[in-house]
Amino acid sequence: MSTKISNTEKIRQVNRNDIINALRQAGPMARIDLGNYLGLSPSTVTTITAQLQQSGLIYELADQDKDSGVRGRPRVAIDLNPKAACVIAIKLSINELQFELGDYKGNIHFQRTRHLNTRKLSGDMLIEILKTEVTSIIDTHGHEYEQFRAIGIAVQGFVDSNSGTIVWSPALGFRHMDLATPLSDAFSVPVVVANDTDCIGVAVQQSPQYKDVKSMAVIMINYGVGMCLIMNGELYLGGVGAVAEFGHTKFSHEGPQCRCGKRGCIEAYVSDYAIYRDACLMMELPETDVMHPSEQQMQDLAERARQGDEKIRRLYADAGRVLGVGIGNLLALLGPEKIILTGSGIRTYDLMESGIFAGVRDSFVEDLIAGTVIETLPWQEDLTSKGVVIQALSYSEV
Ligand SMILES: [Zn+2]
Repeated sequence: MSTKISNTEKIRQVNRNDIINALRQAGPMARIDLGNYLGLSPSTVTTITAQLQQSGLIYELADQDKDSGVRGRPRVAIDLNPKAACVIAIKLSINELQFELGDYKGNIHFQRTRHLNTRKLSGDMLIEILKTEVTSIIDTHGHEYEQFRAIGIAVQGFVDSNSGTIVWSPALGFRHMDLATPLSDAFSVPVVVANDTDCIGVAVQQSPQYKDVKSMAVIMINYGVGMCLIMNGELYLGGVGAVAEFGHTKFSHEGPQCRCGKRGCIEAYVSDYAIYRDACLMMELPETDVMHPSEQQMQDLAERARQGDEKIRRLYADAGRVLGVGIGNLLALLGPEKIILTGSGIRTYDLMESGIFAGVRDSFVEDLIAGTVIETLPWQEDLTSKGVVIQALSYSEV
């Protein structure tokens, strides 16, 4: 008997979370449309939305269909109450800490960026900075919301999301640090620590155009090469909470040095720093931190290629081929419905495209390639922020 009750409760919980996610994903809708969207019965939707309304998490909008000519009972749309809760989203990347406040609908209302030498920080200094900033944001804006619900942290590098630990990040001079426990203790809220590409993948999955895609790999190309795997409709983290390190799979064990300490990783050929490093060997380029070239320097390099500089064109085509071989391996291993390429590195997709598809053909049986759609998604800076807010909100859902 107790098992039956527990299962019923579990299903109710899943349906409740699905309803909240659907409203966050697709915006306000009438109960009947919500039922159709999720494949839930009208009575299930009515029961759960009544409970959500009573808790102040959703509310009814003014009658939208007044003028639509629909006869009978008006279809009242329901929406999430943005003021029901807030979360703090933190982005930790090389020499930058970004703080944002997200509301219960997942919208971002506030942003503050701190520029500092992140590699010089000790673990204790990092925690102190995060505590100070979160306290300041909550003291200033927290009163506008019913509840401060959670903190989400997106980190460049290897992250164990199961334990909230940073394993290794190119942004930091230390390894293995539990970030979740001290922040959770300080603010008494759950803290989710996630890889930055996983956050992007979650934001992509949240967009209505991808909501029915059950398996996809989102590959982000920029200062590094990251990947998020969505399997069976869920973010795949594996047993260690840190998987899908596509950028650190090997193209050649004797290849160029990668930032992770190994050689010949896909990232060591395809990321911004890899392309800039190789370009510096071929020509005089403005001085820079070769491990972190600026956006403008990368744009200038791409422009030289487009204007016909054959050496630079070759560089991009070769980088594309390495990426293509990696994608071919991914197809062979997982065969996802979609592979989506995004990140600021996608600005040079035109220069890499033929190399990518040559690499895919080199590494995988041609007949099986057709089962997966490979497409690009224009880069939007705020995808990471959206993703970390969504993850923090989901993590905090009871
Ligand atoms: Zn590597």
